[in-house]
Amino acid sequence: MSAAGVDPSVYLERLARVRAAMAEHDVDTLLLSVGHDLPYLTGYTAMPLERLTMLVVPRAGDATMIIPALEAPRVREVPGAFELLAWGETQNPTALVAGLAAGSGRVAVGDQMWARFLVELLPQLPGAEFTRAVDVVGPLRMSKDQAEIDALTAAGAAVDRIAAELQRGEIPLVGRTEADVSAHLSRRIIEEGHDKVNFAIVAAGENAASPHHHAGSRLIRENEIVLCDFGGTMAGYCSDTTRCVFTGEPSADVAEAYAVLHEAQRVGVAAGAVGTPCEEIDRATRKVIDDAGYGEYFIHRTGHGIGMEEHEDPYIVEGNQLPLEAGHAYSVEPGIYIPGRWGMRLEDIVVATADGPVALNNSDHGLVGVDA
Ligand code: ZN
Ligand code: ZN
Ligand code: ZN
Repeated sequence: MSAAGVDPSVYLERLARVRAAMAEHDVDTLLLSVGHDLPYLTGYTAMPLERLTMLVVPRAGDATMIIPALEAPRVREVPGAFELLAWGETQNPTALVAGLAAGSGRVAVGDQMWARFLVELLPQLPGAEFTRAVDVVGPLRMSKDQAEIDALTAAGAAVDRIAAELQRGEIPLVGRTEADVSAHLSRRIIEEGHDKVNFAIVAAGENAASPHHHAGSRLIRENEIVLCDFGGTMAGYCSDTTRCVFTGEPSADVAEAYAVLHEAQRVGVAAGAVGTPCEEIDRATRKVIDDAGYGEYFIHRTGHGIGMEEHEDPYIVEGNQLPLEAGHAYSVEPGIYIPGRWGMRLEDIVVATADGPVALNNSDHGLVGVDA
């Protein structure tokens, strides 16, 4: 994950919002170690190893990043955001943390902090009440700022270029295995500027009826559907799109179902006005599919939030009454899966804005017949 190119003022703004949330939740000190909250606030991703890296954010006063001396050179300092405090191999890093957090009434800790460090800290902060940092940082991470929307947009455009190649028939399909095409997509994800591939699902024919099918040795044949769901991480933010192509002219049953899917996905994207409860988007897509008689074959939620993590809040699912806010980023990905025959899914990432939903994936939404 690289924070290169991000204006340091972004981190100052995020820290200011975190401090406001700390005040709201009566948190005196925030402790963040491995996980995504640390890069969100500092641009630095801690190595997930045994040496402690920890950002100590007091509600008032300067934040400090405790870091193993040998990893300190990796940190890009953000003036005004945090001080670096490097610890040597014979020092006790949790004592340094305890010193900075001394006197705190409520301490919020990141979910992914190693248990051993929390266990070491507990007796060093007697009288402190411990709570989860997700209450403080989670709502902020859900509402993407402009730098994050820009990063998601760039990642979305990169996978769209690959989807377009697929749809133009430039990625050979017939006669190759799913795994081979998956490797091809993975290579293209990196070539298009991602730092890492998160997944490249390729599922042909009846295999497409399994939503998270693992691309395998099955050979792709003529006259069948090929579902491709792929994404990676670019400059710390994730892409995720699904397109289906047909190796020939789509058969009547597939074309008919796809028209329903296409409409359901369009309706789901359009439903994303600020203030709409997340579950209403799920209901909107589901209604189109239900009304057409395919309801029992749409076997998963409509979507998930996306950002530094591939799946994060807000989830687009029945029961989630959270109203959409400007800056929420999420997928709209209905599917229809007929066991033993075929499956299909259509997925875009969408950002809610004051002017309405903006789709970050814009490759052809149709079921393109390819000669590939
Ligand atoms: Zn999925
Ligand atoms: Zn996907
Ligand atoms: Zn997705």
